[in-house]
Amino acid sequence: MDNVTEKLLECFGHRKFKSELQERAVRAIARGVHDVYVSMPTGSGKSLCFQLPAMLQDNKVAIVFSPLLALIKDQIDHLTKFKIQAESINSKMSTKDRERVINDLRSMRPNTRFLYVTPEQAATGTFKSLMEHLVKYKKVSYVVVDEAHCVSEWGHDFRPDYLKLGDLREMYRSIPWVALTATASAEVAKDILSNLKLLQPVAQYKTPSFRKNLYYDVIYQNCIEDEIGDLCEFLKKSLKDDENVKPKDKSAVIVYCRTREQTEELAHMLNKRGLNSLAYHGGLKASERISVQERWSGGECPCVCATLSFGMGVDKATVRAVAHWGLAQNVAAYYQESGRAGRDGKPAFCRIYYCGKERNAVDFLLKAEMARARTPEQKQRCKNAYKSFELMVKYCEEVKCRHKRFADYFGEEGPRCGGRCDVCHDERAVRRALDQHQRRAMS
Ligand code: ADP
Ligand code: MG
Repeated sequence: MDNVTEKLLECFGHRKFKSELQERAVRAIARGVHDVYVSMPTGSGKSLCFQLPAMLQDNKVAIVFSPLLALIKDQIDHLTKFKIQAESINSKMSTKDRERVINDLRSMRPNTRFLYVTPEQAATGTFKSLMEHLVKYKKVSYVVVDEAHCVSEWGHDFRPDYLKLGDLREMYRSIPWVALTATASAEVAKDILSNLKLLQPVAQYKTPSFRKNLYYDVIYQNCIEDEIGDLCEFLKKSLKDDENVKPKDKSAVIVYCRTREQTEELAHMLNKRGLNSLAYHGGLKASERISVQERWSGGECPCVCATLSFGMGVDKATVRAVAHWGLAQNVAAYYQESGRAGRDGKPAFCRIYYCGKERNAVDFLLKAEMARARTPEQKQRCKNAYKSFELMVKYCEEVKCRHKRFADYFGEEGPRCGGRCDVCHDERAVRRALDQHQRRAMS
């Protein structure tokens, strides 16, 4: 056991790292030689990547930029539980509290190990002079930008104030910076590196996108006789269970739909064909939504037909299939939604039931939104949304390995699919189906 693993146990009570990637990121940040970029999915333990190395440096403070006071509070509470002193400076605190924090930080030997601030706060005179002081007396271990995708207009929660952090990075070139995010598209990553002005070479730690237990395919709705029947067969086949499995470990499936009406309609038709299904969408009362979610995750009802709001915070490991009825909004969304399948590592299936009409409907909506956009910012976002959508259409309308498509999107080397998608499994069959789809779509 070395110093790092000792501290892991001593400070946070963990016997081992959550992943090899987490360990490598921790060690790189602890070395403090390069700026570090970390991209790992939500829940994989990114906070520890910057919280543990800070514990190896006495009398230094790590400055952490985080987008929301609520997130900051969670992190401070978590660290306080482990008796680690973490503080914040924000507009909501009392003058007295703020003075206490600042006095400690300006003292010879500060006790504060983590200073959490929002990017808005970072622009204030109070913060700037404090930062200058801390840097001058070499009391900053490193600077962290959590939820770093907020600096990108490609991300879903763009925050203009994050852009100003890039200037800070330029001002204090001697301190290493760490940027972390769960949003991993190549565009967002590029924006993070350039907008935060991270110093090259940046050490990068990224979870590869390839999930080898997931089989991906696309079915063209206009090429099959009975779409609902096909969907029903697909779901039923995925749902085979052992007899004596516990209810909460029972297999389950999700069908994502674009509209509320579709969720109701599909659930109804699947029920008629003997697959016990529930509908889930934002139009239901909160209590109904909770009940659907519980019946599904508790193993009472195996199938849920849902709009996109379903899945946040759902962590059922035994989802055996995720079908999209029509299109996903974009490749990032599709990767995330389909990725709810097979979290237990066992084989699972991800399928899109592609429909040309549906594509045209989304196309129309996005263009209408673009026409309504007024500010340059809105226009840019609409353009980005449209480009992302086009990429999703290509996913369905071009014959290319589905896993490779994701890898390209995330800026990674192509994975060895080895027949884990329809294209690599039988390329000629996919070509035939696509030809047929296109011929029928035109006639
Ligand atoms: P992220 O920011 O990547 O979404 P968090 O940093 O919030 O994830 O961590 C998710 C959970 O994982 C937390 O409950 C955290 O305590 C736990 N965790 C982190 N590292 C380890 C570890 N090495 N061993 C066990 N649990 C860990
Ligand atoms: Mg986090």
